[in-house]
Amino acid sequence: MQIQGGLIRVPAWGAEVEAASGIRISACYQCKKCSNGCPVVYAMDFQPNRLIRMIQLGLKEDVLRSATIWVCASCETCSTRCPNDIDIAALMDHLRQAAIREGKVEKEKNTPLFHQTFLSSIRRNGRVHELMMIGEYRLKTKDFLSDLRLGWEMFRRGRLKLFPAGVKSKGEIEEIFKRSEEEERR
Ligand code: SF4
Ligand code: SF4
Repeated sequence: MQIQGGLIRVPAWGAEVEAASGIRISACYQCKKCSNGCPVVYAMDFQPNRLIRMIQLGLKEDVLRSATIWVCASCETCSTRCPNDIDIAALMDHLRQAAIREGKVEKEKNTPLFHQTFLSSIRRNGRVHELMMIGEYRLKTKDFLSDLRLGWEMFRRGRLKLFPAGVKSKGEIEEIFKRSEEEERR
């Protein structure tokens, strides 16, 4: 690794991530402010600052196969705290997309499944229809029993609607999905 103009020169993959995401990973000097403020760091296999270092070192496989990118709750605390304006939350998004695209989702596999189910519910109905989404998610994970009691309680109290509510701007939402798919293909 080389230091140049106060920045750490990243090997090929790190530079690729930097160019594609527009996030200046090479500016990280490991102050750990991101990890110290992260509310879910206890469940991660690599702390956010460590993940950044791994990208700088070009450890692509370990980064894309990590649990960290799926445990991240996108709360943006880290991005706000970083003295170098590194948007770590956005970087996590970028890494999640790369992990899916390259078939490297290894840990926390249910999280991307939940993301996909959540988004397809929005695309279908214009907004989330929880009951249908939960059913679809359970079918995908083949886990029909966990949270059954909680689900029933929510249904009994009217928190889960039987039918989806319509939205006026469904066409606009479909347009957002199409544009995002076009971006992905570029
Ligand atoms: S807060 Fe920013 S500079 Fe500090 S370790 Fe995290 S990413 Fe690096
Ligand atoms: S955005 Fe993710 S990595 Fe950053 S503090 Fe929140 S949960 Fe932690």
